[in-house]
Amino acid sequence: MENLELLIDLHKNQNRQGPGSENETKKALSLAMLDKTKQLKVADIGCGTGASTIFLAKQLNAHITAVDFLPEFIDILKEASIRDGLGKKITPIVCSMDNLPFGEEEYDVIWSEGAIYNMGFERGIKEWRRYLKPGGTLAVSEITWITNNRPSEIETYWIREYPEIDMASSKIKILEKNGYSLTAYFVLPENCWIENYYRPLQNSFTAFIKRNDHSNEAQEIVRNEEAEIALYEKYKPYYSYGVYIAKKL
Ligand code: SAH
Repeated sequence: MENLELLIDLHKNQNRQGPGSENETKKALSLAMLDKTKQLKVADIGCGTGASTIFLAKQLNAHITAVDFLPEFIDILKEASIRDGLGKKITPIVCSMDNLPFGEEEYDVIWSEGAIYNMGFERGIKEWRRYLKPGGTLAVSEITWITNNRPSEIETYWIREYPEIDMASSKIKILEKNGYSLTAYFVLPENCWIENYYRPLQNSFTAFIKRNDHSNEAQEIVRNEEAEIALYEKYKPYYSYGVYIAKKL
């Protein structure tokens, strides 16, 4: 199996493909102060298997377009939305986030949890802006430094993984420079990483290696995930996902 296929195999049966929780999605929703009186058009970009999509669909009087470039994840979301009776509220599409089939000013809300780094925060918020109605809401989580000084091991690791990692103040400045006004900001707490993401992933490693015949590639993927988890455990006071809620000016 190719590496990507193995990564899909590892992650597709998880509830989330990145740190997060229903509680924090709910908190972001309440801070976004959306107009509940009208039907909203929402896009959930980089939705994975749709933990946030399903939750948003349950909470809002809205139609949600859920986008991910992996058909395997979108299939799972499709099944879940039908199972939960949300088939009419959710349109899942397989598409890349840097080539969205959206119209100008089509959406009231653009939502994206743990995914914008794939095209880069600045490029993402710039390119997605045109799909938002004036006064529309952007809610994105983005890997963010919590402190101004970091031990070099973690600084080096993250700059290699994602050179755009920065402090919240820098991210907010980027939003302001690009026609948004910040409404709210908060940091994902530790349970979003450990209980909701890393622990369930770790619990799946043994079965993952077994069903992939103990291949070297599968074992290497697990080693890489374990290394990332160990770094988080060691350096968690220094970084997390920041949740940025902003309005299009
Ligand atoms: N929002 C989900 C998934 C986060 S993981 C959650 O919080 O659980 C990041 C997701 O982005 C993955 O599902 C991955 O398939 C998707 N992704 C990565 N690059 C992408 C791209 N270029 N276009 C669309 N989706 C992408």
